[in-house]
Amino acid sequence: MIIAVDGPSASGKGTLARALAEHFKLEHLDTGSLYRCVALSMQLAGHNFQDEALAIKAAHHLVPELINHPALRTETIGAGASIVSAYPAVRQALLQFQRDFAHSPSGAVLDGRDIGTVVCPDADAKIFLTAAVDVRARRREQELIECGMPQPYLTILADLNKRDERDASRPTAPLKAAPDALLLDSSNLGKENTIVEAIRLINTHLLQKVRLTSEQS
Ligand code: C5P
Repeated sequence: MIIAVDGPSASGKGTLARALAEHFKLEHLDTGSLYRCVALSMQLAGHNFQDEALAIKAAHHLVPELINHPALRTETIGAGASIVSAYPAVRQALLQFQRDFAHSPSGAVLDGRDIGTVVCPDADAKIFLTAAVDVRARRREQELIECGMPQPYLTILADLNKRDERDASRPTAPLKAAPDALLLDSSNLGKENTIVEAIRLINTHLLQKVRLTSEQS
């Protein structure tokens, strides 16, 4: 089974995808971390995120150890990931790895921006998770406080708006819901209720698919 979880920054995709992986006993891949690794390796080498040729090279020579680097989750690297992920050849370089992961024998949950549309258009269930931008900014503010890297709310809000705009407007694999995605707005739901609602949506969807298949055969 493959489950795709897409949505904008700070929508809670990562938390939801991890919980779904645990619930359905599947592997989990946070695909944003791949783009973050590309951005981080460029930053560590002193390169500019705007240098497309070097970004492509970094994507072809991904350093897996960077996944555990303390700077991976910073806002600078998040913004850098958003810049390098707009280069089509960077996306192409990371595509096969994501598809191979998705088709691993134990099944997988992948979260990102284009999982339901490009990476796994054949996913068994697709969730598109959203939340109002001010709600996402408050959540991110809290996360940054908790990990000892506080930032002003307005800076976070501006950064999220910029990132949403860049991710949604790029010509290659923009952030958007697949036509067959199950939409979930978590603006007024806590973490636990979001997980419960997502599981309910997925189970209902899978049941409908089984019914349709048995009616057709
Ligand atoms: O999800 P996360 O914030 O870690 O992603 C960082 C950036 O990587 C996003 O802003 C987005 O530009 C990019 N990304 C992407 N496609 C994915 C996952 C992430 O373009 N599947």
